[in-house]
Amino acid sequence: MNVQYAIIGAGPTGLGAAYRLKELGLTDFVVIDKEDYVGGLATSFVDKAGFTWDVGGHVQFSHYKYFDDLMVEALGSDGWLNHQRESWVWIEKRFVPYPFQNNIRYLSPETMWKCLDGLIQLYRRPTNGKPANFKEWIMNTFGMGLAEVFMLPYNFKVWAYPPEELNASWVGERVAVTDLQRVTKNIIFNRDDLSWGPNATFQFPKFGGTGAIWKAVGNMIGMEHVLLKASVESVDPAKKELRLTDGRTIAYRILLNTMPLDLFTRKLQGFPSELIEEAQKLKHSSTHVIGVGLKNRPKPELTTKCWMYFPEVKSPYYRITLFSNYSPYNVPDIEQYWSLMTETSESDKKPVNRETLAADTVKALLDDELIESESQIVSIFQFRTDYGYPTPSVGRDGILKAVLPALKPFDIYSRGRFGAWTYEVSNQDHSLMQGVEWVNRMVLGIPEVSLFFPGVANAMWGK
Ligand SMILES: Cc1cc2nc3c(=O)[nH]c(=O)nc-3n(C[C@H](O)[C@H](O)[C@H](O)COP(=O)(O)OP(=O)(O)OC[C@H]3O[C@@H](n4cnc5c(N)ncnc54)[C@H](O)[C@@H]3O)c2cc1C
Repeated sequence: MNVQYAIIGAGPTGLGAAYRLKELGLTDFVVIDKEDYVGGLATSFVDKAGFTWDVGGHVQFSHYKYFDDLMVEALGSDGWLNHQRESWVWIEKRFVPYPFQNNIRYLSPETMWKCLDGLIQLYRRPTNGKPANFKEWIMNTFGMGLAEVFMLPYNFKVWAYPPEELNASWVGERVAVTDLQRVTKNIIFNRDDLSWGPNATFQFPKFGGTGAIWKAVGNMIGMEHVLLKASVESVDPAKKELRLTDGRTIAYRILLNTMPLDLFTRKLQGFPSELIEEAQKLKHSSTHVIGVGLKNRPKPELTTKCWMYFPEVKSPYYRITLFSNYSPYNVPDIEQYWSLMTETSESDKKPVNRETLAADTVKALLDDELIESESQIVSIFQFRTDYGYPTPSVGRDGILKAVLPALKPFDIYSRGRFGAWTYEVSNQDHSLMQGVEWVNRMVLGIPEVSLFFPGVANAMWGK
C-alpha cells in the first residue's frame, strides 16, 4: 500500500484527521489500528449480561463548534441524551456536592473548621511565589485543611502519583478554585454551590455508549480507509515506510502518529537515542474499569447522581459513574436493572492487586453504602488499559519540547491524548480537534491552536 497520509490509531484524534481529509476532498490516506474496533479509549463494550460499559465515565462537553456539529451529524440530534451534572464526593460516610471546596458545610464541624482554618491562614499569610509543583499549588490555593482532607488524597488516587510529581501548569479549567468569602457565605446561608466548570451540562449517546459515536464517525469516513487488527511494529523514516507485525508494509509521504509517544519513538528507526530515552521519562497511569451490573433499583439517594468522587484510602476507586443514569439503554432493561462503573488508577507509585480488585471493589461498594447486598449483582465487567491518563509530570513540558519538534524533519507528527501527552487537551473534543487542526496545517497552512495553546482552546468553552 502506498498513501499520501498514514495515520496510526483510529481513536478520536486519528478519526478527526481522517474525517477532515475526507471533508477537504482528499482520499489518499489510511488509518491503521491494532484493535478490531475504532474509537481507541473512547470505545464501549457490551458484556454477556447485556450491560454496556465505557472505558471509565466518558461525558461529552465541548469547546468547539466543529466538534458539536460533527456529533449531531454522527448520531443525529435525537441520538443524544442531555444531562445536568450532579456530582458528589463521598467522605465521612456522607455525600458532599462537587466542587467539594465550595460545599464544606456538609462536613462534620471538626473537618469543616479544619478546611476553613486553612483558608483563613492563607489570607493571613498569602504566598505569591510561583508554585513549583501541583502540591504547592494546592497548598497555596486551598490551604492546609482542604489539602489534607480532600485535594491531596483525592489527587493521589486519580493520578497514581504524589501531587508533588505533577506540574502546576495543567490546572487551568480542570480544578475549581475557591475563596474564603464564597465558602463562608455558603456555610452561613446554607447554600449549595454547584455549577462550576465546563461540564455542568453534558450529553451522552442514547444507544451504544461512547463507542457508538466513533463507530458512526468511522462509517462517515468510510471503513475502506481504516485498517483494523493492524499493529505497527516499526517505522523507517528514511524509506517512509511502516511495517506491521504481520509483515505488511505501508509507504507514506506524511505520517500522523496517535499511539503513545514513548512507545512510538522506540519503533522509529534511526531516531536519536537520547530523544528516545527522554520520551521514556514521560509518566502515565493505567486505568482499571470494574462495571457492576445490578438488579432492582438504586436507592433513592442515587437516582439522579451522575458520578461520585472517593478521596478516602479505604476504597480502591477514585470515581464511580452511575452509568444507567447516562442512558437507560446502558442496561438490558431499565425497569429491572441499573449499573455502577468504577475507575481505579495504577502506577509504579500506586500498585493495584489485579487479582483481588473486583472483589475489593464489591466490598468497598457495600462499605460505602452504594449497594445493599452482593445478591443484587448480576454481572461484573473488568477492563484495564495500560495507558489511561497522560500524567502532566514536572518534567513533561521539557520532554515534549525536545521530542515533538524532532519528528518534523522526518515528516512525522504526533498528536492526541498520548501522542502529544498533553492532558490539558486530551478529551474527545480536544483529541478530535488535534487531528482536524493537524490536517488544516498540512493541507491549508493554518496554524494549530489546541495543542500549542491549550489555554486558548479551553477558553473557547461555552462559545
Ligand atoms: C478513564 C478515562 C475517562 C475519560 N473520560 C472522558 C470524558 O469524560 N470526556 C471526554 O471527552 N474524554 C474522556 N476521556 C478521554 C478520551 O478517551 C480520549 O480523549 C480519546 O480517546 C483520545 O483519543 P486519541 O485518538 O488521542 O487516543 P486513543 O483513544 O488512545 O487512540 C489511540 C489508538 O492507537 C492505537 N494504537 C496503539 N498502538 C498501536 C500500534 N502499535 N499500531 C496500531 N495502532 C495502535 C490504539 O489501539 C488506539 O485505538 C477519558 C479517558 C479515560 C482513559
